[in-house]
Formats: sequence, structure tokens, C-alpha cells
Amino acid sequence: MKASLESANHPDDLVDYNLFTSNAALVDALEREGASAAHGRLTELGARLGTREMFALGDAANRNPPALKLFDRFGNRLDEVEFHPAWHELMRRLVAEGLHTSPWAEPRDGAHVERAAAYMLWGEIENGTQCPATMTYGAVPALARQRDDFAPWMRRLLSRHYDPRLVPIGQKHGALMGMGMTEKQGGSDVRANITRAEPAGAAGPGHEYRITGHKWFFSAPMCDAFLVLAQAAAGLSCFFVPRILPDGSRNALYLQRLKDKVGNRSNASSEVEFENTYGVLVGEEGRGIPTILEMGVYTRLDCAIGAAGIMRQCVAQAVHHARHRSAFGRLLVDQPLMRNVLADLALECEAAIALAIRLARAFDAQQDELEAALRRVLTPVAKYWICKRAPAVGAEAMEVLGGNGYVEEGPIARRFRELPLNGIWEGSGNIMCLDVLRALAREARTGEALAALFQRRRGADARFDQYVDRLLADLRDAAGDEASARILTERIALAAQASILLEGGSESVAQAFISSRLASGAPAAFGVLPRSPVHDGLLERVLRR
Ligand SMILES: Cc1cc2nc3c(=O)[nH]c(=O)nc-3n(C[C@H](O)[C@H](O)[C@H](O)COP(=O)(O)OP(=O)(O)OC[C@H]3O[C@@H](n4cnc5c(N)ncnc54)[C@H](O)[C@@H]3O)c2cc1C
Repeated sequence: MKASLESANHPDDLVDYNLFTSNAALVDALEREGASAAHGRLTELGARLGTREMFALGDAANRNPPALKLFDRFGNRLDEVEFHPAWHELMRRLVAEGLHTSPWAEPRDGAHVERAAAYMLWGEIENGTQCPATMTYGAVPALARQRDDFAPWMRRLLSRHYDPRLVPIGQKHGALMGMGMTEKQGGSDVRANITRAEPAGAAGPGHEYRITGHKWFFSAPMCDAFLVLAQAAAGLSCFFVPRILPDGSRNALYLQRLKDKVGNRSNASSEVEFENTYGVLVGEEGRGIPTILEMGVYTRLDCAIGAAGIMRQCVAQAVHHARHRSAFGRLLVDQPLMRNVLADLALECEAAIALAIRLARAFDAQQDELEAALRRVLTPVAKYWICKRAPAVGAEAMEVLGGNGYVEEGPIARRFRELPLNGIWEGSGNIMCLDVLRALAREARTGEALAALFQRRRGADARFDQYVDRLLADLRDAAGDEASARILTERIALAAQASILLEGGSESVAQAFISSRLASGAPAAFGVLPRSPVHDGLLERVLRR
């Protein structure tokens, strides 16, 4: 055979492995955060998700993006989105796993941690489908404020049936939700919203309003209902907007076009116009921001978890490639410098997993005042830091695959395009850092909650103690210093990651983290770990053979 027709020195696809049991960082995090009872279920899920079939479904859903069908052939408005069958199959499986609402449907100790681990595993496979899952997960607690008004909806949101039919809620087996906040003139500053709402009769929570205006980003428009912000007489307010009205006719939601996005291609993100659109007020008039932020806190948690999942898949792909590709007479994984890069990536990935799963535990302990304060401050910290590190990890993992990494057929390309998104939506980086300042200045016990988190491992390592002492001293007068908010948030994130890693799992991983992230200043690039035998262990932890 001609040499050019042979394909040598190429690793096989990394498929048909257990996504959970091969990921020691996640297994340990589950144990550390008190959800080891979920080990069996996650082992089964990890096996189901790690198949060639699942990876292929994820690829197919992204290679065949949704199409907008505005009109039928007679010119009647349809406002529908058509998806590839792979999307529906993925959605069916995702909802069957309860990734959209399991902690609400079956509340118990560790339910949010278990769901976080499952959602992270799913994030290794496909990310567009995570968008409606996350919005539904966040919408349930916001709607729970008026449970009676939304009882028929609540039952369907908690169901494990995926039902994409556009029919009245009474006929549906399951339902999903989206949200509309961002307008053309501004997304971060939603106070600038110009969409208006007028009461159709009596005003107040649970009453009908008519909404007129637009949303510039409106993802997953095939969801059954949306939480939408609009200006009412008393100010910005939150409305429940179904696609189908109680009488079975369509609500006035006019899709304009779908966004042509960098990544997240399987998922439809639309622009939409509202014209006298039916909506029901959720919460008090004028209290729209706190009401929708009830949802936002969960979606921010999911950004951190999802980004950690994509990072893990990118690093696993890089390690797999290096274990099977040779250059200069040796496997890449045996080249000392490459080994350092891979170990450093694995370390970043492990720290991200540890932080995201620890944060999920604070969502489980909602009755505990100190955990509630921790959740308040650690959510923007984790959302900022994990999402900020993720694109750098993805780029480095891509480079490990060399030119093959940059090719669309390969496993990294679509994940790489996905990575910046978690940093942008649900509050971009700066907004998260300003929120950290706000949480520290205005919310009771947030500083105390952070101190308590660090205190648990005080004495374990002198470098850690020193880092934390300086940080806690600086927290006291950080509130007014907006320009330094990123520096402060990064320092909190690093201290939190170190303390969580010190709490359990691998002692040598914690030591590697402290020497490279706490003791030697901010790393400029990956591959800067001190020479140490821990490198081997790190690779084994991110992808167990
Ligand atoms: C694929 C995709 C899907 C989306 N889906 C939805 C959806 O379904 N529903 C929805 O409501 N929105 C959605 N969004 C919108 C998203 O949440 C917003 O884009 C995001 O909140 C930022 O708002 P913006 O784009 O208006 O940017 P801007 O608010 O203009 O911000 C631009 C930049 O300025 C920074 N900035 C803003 N204020 C300050 C400040 N005071 N100090 C320092 N820096 C600041 C921000 O951090 C950001 O980096 C989606 C976005 C994308 C990309």
C-alpha cells in the first residue's frame, strides 16, 4: 500500500468507557460532599453516557443545527424550530435522567450534588441540550413562590417525559422552560429593559398582563413557557409567558431569526418580538430582578458545573492522545515537558470539579444559614473562575492533539467553541466579580462563611494559611474597589479550591495545587508545575486506564 494511504500513529477514538469511574476527581468530590450514596447511579450513568453512540449523537446534533420555520406554505405564521432527530433523542435521554429537575422532584440530602455530578457528565457529551435543562432547573424555585398558580405546570416540569409537542399544558406529559431578560440595548443592566407590561384587568401576582417589546437573546424558544422581564407600573417585573394559551390558541411570541453562534450550535437561540403577549405576573410588581435572580443563581451554578464537564472531556481527550501518539521516538505522554502540561491541565480540571461540586453542596444545605451565605458568595466566584479557566484549558488540550486538534472532525473543536459561552451568559465575568463585591458588602455572613470554609483546613499547610490570612485581611476593605474585583475573586477562588482539595481526595494533588497556584503567583500558562512524581498520579486521576 502507498504510504500516504496508511494511517499510522493515530490513537483510536476515546469512546466506550465509563465517564464517571474513569474520573477519580469526580468520584472523590462526590464522596467529599456527602453524596457517596449516588455512586451506584452515577456509575450506571457514566457507562450509559460514555458510549460511542452518545458521542455520535452529540456530534450529529451539532453538525445539523436547528432551522427556523417562520411560515407554512400558505403564509401562515408557524414560529417553530425544526431540530435534527439527534437533538430530540438527546433531550429524551437528558429528561429521563432527571437532569432538568431531579432535586425538586425527589428532594433529599445530596440531591443537588448528585444532579451536579450527573450534569457534569452530560456536559462531556453535549452542551446545547443543557441550556433548556438548566433554565428549567432554575425556573422551578422561582415559580414555587406561587405554587398554586402554577400547579399543572409544576407537575409537568418535574416529570421525566420529554414531550416536544406544541399542545396545551393539560395534554402534555412533560414541560421545559426558558427565560427572556436580555434586550438589544443591554443585557447585564436589565434595568434598561424597555419591554412593557400592562395588567389585562386586576394587577398583582398571579394576574394576567399584556406584554409588548422584544428580547434580543431568547434561547430554546421551543420551550413550553418562559420567565420574562418587562416594565410594569411599579418597575421591572417578572412574567410567566406560555407558548400556548389556556384556551389552546397560540400566545403572541413572534420569532425573528436564530442567532448564528460561534458554538452551542445544536441549541436554538432566537430573537423574539412580543405584541400584546399574554403573561402572568410572578412575584410582586417591581420585584422582577430578585424574582428572576432566584432562577439565575441556579443557572450560574450550572455554568460552573457545565464548564468543568467540558474541561474534563477536553483534558481526557488530550491525555488519551498523548498516551497513544509518538514523536521523537517516544510516546508524547513520556516526554517530560508534555507530561508537565498534561498534569497541569489535569490539576486545573480537578480543582474546577472540586469547586463546582462543593458549591452544589451549599445548594443542598439551604436551611443552614452559613451554607446559604456561602452559596451567595461562592456562586459568582465559581462561575467566574471556572468559566474563565475553561477556554484556556480547552485551547491547551487542543494543542496537545496538534493539527488534528484543530480539525472539526476531532473531539475538541466543538467543545472549544462552546467554552467561552459559560463565561458570557448568565452574567459575564465582570458582572460576576462585581456581584462578589456586592455579596461581601451587603449580605450578612458571607465573609464569615468564606472564613469558615478556609478554617476547616487551617494548619494543614503553612503556605495555605499564609495565603488565607492575607486574603481575609483584604476582604474587609474590598467592597469599594471595583477595578480590583477580578483579582479579589480569583484569590477567593484559589483559596476555596485549595481548601476543598485539602479536605479529602488526594493529598499530593492538594500539594501540587498549593505549590503551583498559591505559592508561586498566577501561572502564565499550563505546564509550569514543579518537577515532581505527582504528575503520574494526576494523569491517572483525570483518565483512569
Ligand atoms: C448563545 C447565547 C444565548 C443566550 N441566551 C439568552 C437567553 O435565553 N435569555 C436571555 O435573557 N439572555 C440570553 N443571552 C444573553 C446573555 O445573558 C447576555 O449576552 C449577557 O448577559 C451579557 O449581556 P450583553 O450581551 O447585553 O452585554 P453587556 O451588558 O453590554 O456587557 C458587555 C460587557 O461589559 C461588561 N460590563 C457590563 N457592565 C459592566 C460594569 N458595570 N463594569 C464592568 N464591566 C461591565 C460585561 O461583563 C460584558 O463583558 C444569551 C447569550 C448568548 C451568547
